[in-house]
Amino acid sequence: MYQISVSFRTHLMERDKKMGILGEISIGGHVYKIVVQELKHEDPKKTLYGRHSVDDNIIYISDSIVTSRKEETLIHEVLHAIFYNTGLDHNEHQIEAISNGLFQLGIGEYLWDLTASQNK
Ligand SMILES: [Zn+2]
Repeated sequence: MYQISVSFRTHLMERDKKMGILGEISIGGHVYKIVVQELKHEDPKKTLYGRHSVDDNIIYISDSIVTSRKEETLIHEVLHAIFYNTGLDHNEHQIEAISNGLFQLGIGEYLWDLTASQNK
């Protein structure tokens, strides 16, 4: 029985890895899935680091950027979700400033590890 449940969990984690699911995080009482995958910007000359899908509570992070950028992008998208959930006006410049400040305090690595520990 123990063997079966361990194998099943391993199987799920392997499946999640293939789908790029880092894990889950609760933002404002809503559970978001964090997915790391290839992202394409509408403008082929631009690079898309992250995206926040409100309808299905998914935050997408580009898989083709270095770890520190992924961590900062996670903060960035979490901030979008917080502002959206609370109905506060915001713009990209404000989000950039706050996410960079929080990243420098080590919040990116903290959020990344917290999310990965919630991989169900
Ligand atoms: Zn943004």
